Amino acid sequence: MDLLTTLVDKGLRRELPTREEALAVLATPDDDLLDVVAAAGKVRRRWFGRRVKLNYLVNLKSGLCPEDCSYCSQRLGSKAEILKYTWLKPEQASEAAAAGVAGGAKRVCIVASGRGPTDRDVDRVSQTIAAIKEQNEGVEVCACLGLLSDGQADRLRAAGADAYNHNLNTSEATYGDITTTHTYADRVATVHQAQAAGLSACSGLIAGMGESDADLVDVVFALRALDPDSVPVNFLIPFEGTPLAKEWNLTPQRALRILAMVRFVCPDVEVRLAGGREVHLRSMQPLALHLANSIFLGDYLTSEGQAGKDDLAMIADAGFEVEGTDTSTLPEHRADALAGGGCGGHGGGGCGPCGDGDAAAEPAVRAGAGAGTVPAPADEARAEEAPVTAPATPAGEARTDLVSVRRRGAGTELPPNA
Ligand code: SF4
Repeated sequence: MDLLTTLVDKGLRRELPTREEALAVLATPDDDLLDVVAAAGKVRRRWFGRRVKLNYLVNLKSGLCPEDCSYCSQRLGSKAEILKYTWLKPEQASEAAAAGVAGGAKRVCIVASGRGPTDRDVDRVSQTIAAIKEQNEGVEVCACLGLLSDGQADRLRAAGADAYNHNLNTSEATYGDITTTHTYADRVATVHQAQAAGLSACSGLIAGMGESDADLVDVVFALRALDPDSVPVNFLIPFEGTPLAKEWNLTPQRALRILAMVRFVCPDVEVRLAGGREVHLRSMQPLALHLANSIFLGDYLTSEGQAGKDDLAMIADAGFEVEGTDTSTLPEHRADALAGGGCGGHGGGGCGPCGDGDAAAEPAVRAGAGAGTVPAPADEARAEEAPVTAPATPAGEARTDLVSVRRRGAGTELPPNA
């Protein structure tokens, strides 16, 4: 396919594809799926070889959030029967982190529910970062605490945080449909604050919330312009008890096309296969390793993932290798730029004054805008710019049997999955 040849060439040069090319990837038929994966896989291997970075989530504070992110099991009014607990003590968090590190994780992602931290919370998290770093030499720590106020990113950096996660989640045009208690602009501002403080920015999306192809391309192009170092791609886990419980829009094939599109648009960035991979990719997970160079090991914030040993076996069986602490995740040009406090070197991305983790993100479903359906009115104008294409395969059946609320690890008496 000419399209794929063009996209591989651009990916190897770190050149931004056109919006039409990105949309065309999402529109490819299932018959071409392996060609799409192979093409995006060439770009992945150019910048990341066959390495897979493992990341480990520690949910410092679970549930009872005052925000209304529709995708989130911890949201205001959530009826999901998740674990609810307040701040873990530094030593508890460090113990949970150590299990992930022992399982091969190179980065620990410490996450707390809530709109954003108070200054006292930042003190508390600073102690937690110190405890994790003391117990786990060489580990990277990424904090994910919501919207940051002035000076908080600097304080987290000074406390030893390496990175900060705050996802854009979905397109600016539809952001108000998924969350009403904060804005897309708030999220962008927090990513800029993290970058300005010298933190490695991690910002990604959640697919499967009823968005159109145009929305997906919008948010991925916005991420490229923001220029984070890592882009987690979450697939909505439709939790019973949340407004998006009925949004079962994804097939494994569509999830792979989305990952391929992200890889083409953000070729040299750590693309992380994040929440929902087991639920939506199922037995196709190994193919996703040809697109993403990073995954979460073990469980998510409020749901259980597959056994950590199965993650490791999958990586080995697919011919990939777990990235060690002696290897830089990012290609040299990006690692150097991060060390120098500059932008990561996206050819088409802005450096500008210089994001959530797991499927903790936000939305009220736009009824009818899901895969295979007619776009909602808000999408129609953009639908004229480029063909909004529904996936070739019908949406999957609800697979509530695949969603398991986390009952082990942080906040419980049971050992974590790592
Ligand atoms: S995504 Fe974060 S801010 Fe939004 S409801 Fe969930 S925990 Fe709260």
